[in-house]
Order: sequence, then C-alpha cells, then structure tokens
Amino acid sequence: MRKAVKFGGSSLADAVQFQKCAEIIKADPSRLFVVPSAPGKRHAHDTKVTDMLFHCFALQKKHPDEALEYFERIKERYDEIIRELHLSYSLEEEYQLISEKIGADITEEYLVSRGEYLSAKILSALLGYPFLDASQCVKFDATGNYDEQSTQLAFYEIKDWPCFVMPGFYGSYPNGEIRTFSRGGSDISGAIVAKAMEVDVYENWTDVSGFLAADPRIIPHPETIEEVTYSELRELSYMGASVFHEEAIYPARSAGIPINIRNTNRPGDAGSWICPDDGASPSHAYITGIAGKKGFLSLSFEKDVGGDKLSFGRKVLQVFEEAKVMVDHVPSSIGTMTVVVDAGEISGKEESIVRRIRREIDPDHITIERNLAFIAVVGFKMKGGIGVTSGILAALAQEGISVKMVIQGIREISLIIGIEEKDFEKAIRRLYSFRQEVDATENQFCAPKR
Ligand code: ASP
Repeated sequence: MRKAVKFGGSSLADAVQFQKCAEIIKADPSRLFVVPSAPGKRHAHDTKVTDMLFHCFALQKKHPDEALEYFERIKERYDEIIRELHLSYSLEEEYQLISEKIGADITEEYLVSRGEYLSAKILSALLGYPFLDASQCVKFDATGNYDEQSTQLAFYEIKDWPCFVMPGFYGSYPNGEIRTFSRGGSDISGAIVAKAMEVDVYENWTDVSGFLAADPRIIPHPETIEEVTYSELRELSYMGASVFHEEAIYPARSAGIPINIRNTNRPGDAGSWICPDDGASPSHAYITGIAGKKGFLSLSFEKDVGGDKLSFGRKVLQVFEEAKVMVDHVPSSIGTMTVVVDAGEISGKEESIVRRIRREIDPDHITIERNLAFIAVVGFKMKGGIGVTSGILAALAQEGISVKMVIQGIREISLIIGIEEKDFEKAIRRLYSFRQEVDATENQFCAPKR
C-alpha cells in the first residue's frame, strides 16, 4: 500500500500543527508522498501566508523597500515554526534568494508559490524525507495550461524515489518560470502526485472530518458522508456544497484512485471517501447528500412554434451563449422553453437578452420568475429505485412547499427541485429528515420490475 498525503493550510498553521502532521505521517509507513500547503490562519483574525505573499507582491510593485520589510513578517512565521519544532535547520539561504528577487525583478506567481516551497522545506527536514521541487515535475505549457503528458514524463524520472515532500500549488512553464494553480490549488498538486506515483489512496488532510450530508448552517450537526462517488460529488458541488473543486480531483479520478478526506485535528475519525462510481460499497447511503442554492431566476418563452420546432430551442440558447450567460437548467415542453440562470450571472444583461429574443424569436409570451432556489437530492443508489422521487415530492408537500420545477436526468443520481426562496431552509430540513427516514427503513424502494 502506498499513499499520497496532502495537508492543507490549517494543518500547517504553526509548529503544533506541523508536529501533528509529522505524527500522522509517521503513524502509517504507507504515507510516502507528502504535499503541503502554505501555513494558514492560526486564529480567526490571522492572515494566511499566501495572502501575505500576495500583499507583499502588491507592495513590491510600488515600494520594494516596504515589501522587503513586510517579507520580514513572513520570515518570522517560518522561523517561529522552526524554533518551536526545535529543528537545527535554517531557511536563511532561501530567504536571501527571495529577498534579492523582491529587490529586483519578480513575478507574482513566483512570490506566492514560496509559501508552499518554504513549508515543504521545513516538513522535509522534520520528516527526513527528500525535498522534491514541484517546478521539476509539475509542468504547464507555454499558455499556462496544465500539461499532463510532460508532468507524467517528469515524474517518470523520480519513479524510484521511496518517499518525498513536494510543495503544492505550483509547477513550472516550459522555460522554467513558476506557474501556480488557482487558489486552493494544492489539492490539485496532491492528486497529480497520487496519479504520477501510482498510489493506492490519496489522503487529503484538512480541518473537517469529511463532507457533511447537508449545510450545517441549516441542519445542526449533519451526518458526515462516509462515502461519495465522483459523480455524486460533482452534482453536490455544482449545487453549492463546499466540497472539492472538480479540477482538484480530476487526476485522481482519471486514475481511479480513491480519495480519503481526513481531519488533522481528529486523526482517529475515518473521514469521507470519494470513490470511483463503480467502487461504491453496498453500505453506501441511499441519499448521499443534499445541497442547494438560492438566487436563481427563470425566463420562460412561449411560442406557437409551428414549423419552427427544430430551431426554437437553439435560437433561444444562442442568445444566452452570445451574452456569455451560463444556463443552469432548461426544462421545456412543446412550444415553451424555460431557461434557469443564476441571478448574479444575468444581472445587467437581462434586458438586452429579452430584447434580442423578442426581436429574433418573437415569442407570444415571456414570463420571468425571480427569487427561486434549487435543491439537489443526490444519491447513487436512487438509480433504478421506484418511489424515491414520489417520496421526496410527498415529503415537500407535507410541509406545504410548492414545487415549481423538477429536473431528473436519465442517470437518476440526482433529483433537482426548484422552489421559492422563502421555502428554502424549510425544504432542506424536511429533505434531510427524509434522508434519515430512508436509511432507517432500508430497501424501502423496490427495484424496477423486469
Ligand atoms: N496556499 C494556496 C492558497 O492559499 C494554495 C492552497 O492552499 O491550496 O490558495
């Protein structure tokens, strides 16, 4: 068994947290390939090192001497960690190099990547694992897109390394300059290492014990999801659950590597597993999770289309595409097409879209409904069951909630329900209790008859 382990910023905020990470790694000899983030916040009013580095770069543009002064504060965060870990190790040479660059010429991506770089240097000294610079292995093309092929080739060179610590968040352009991922990108680095080193498990250590089955701001102490498939995760995150970004799991997903989300502060908790769609265990919950968002509006276009049936939908969608407004759902019936969009997305463009549709498609009626919320009830096991959808809708009816739209794709792993915003919290609460009821009465839904 070989594992890649990524530690987020809160797991490395100070010396105590570094020590916890080292203990976690040493507790399991299969934890071989380690990917740290930059130190995060130590308390609510603290600043993440990455944010400090962004600030340092902004200062450098106008006042390089102030930037150098500010960099002293960043150095102090690392020096404090080294001191409190009682390491006989110094980052002086690294600081020197960075300071020289701050005083001369530096790119933003280089400077902000130093947060992870310095973290990884300390962790490598603490563990006695070799340091692998991410610029050596994680490759981007000249336009800044992640280059999977070159990355795999570069990792091939270090295939025999028994273990290493590689900083997250960055890699390099073909000319060797530093290129960073988007914010939170160390999750991607961890997944890249997992794939390249062909590990069995990618552990992602953070400050929560996994994904929650519903929003804790609405449901007090919701259950932790034990297991979620990649597809379910995509549905949940699309509907606003703050789970992994899709991009962050792609490399692990493409290699079929399961991901285990763990809590550095509660290492005994099992956390959540993200597994390939065909790898879900039979104990997988019936309804995996519930997620939802407010702030949608729908525009319905009604037209006696006559011979224009084929092109009606395309013409409507084209107007949205050209206005660069992302369409979320398109429930339709003959002669009526409803387009659901995020109110923020369409703000400032609504009038011109409607005007264009009037001009080009000339609908008989246009109806706009505002203040809509959508909720996704997601469950891999819902597929093929009979009565799940009716159970969900009946549960909402019992609460007196009017369902305005229902969207269920052929894969049947999610049911998306459109309601009025005012009913949102009530609906989430009822659906969450429905989830618990379903799991308590196993096999309540019969399989389809053949
Ligand atoms: N340190 C970077 C950030 O704050 C990357 C990461 O933590 O994943 O966005």
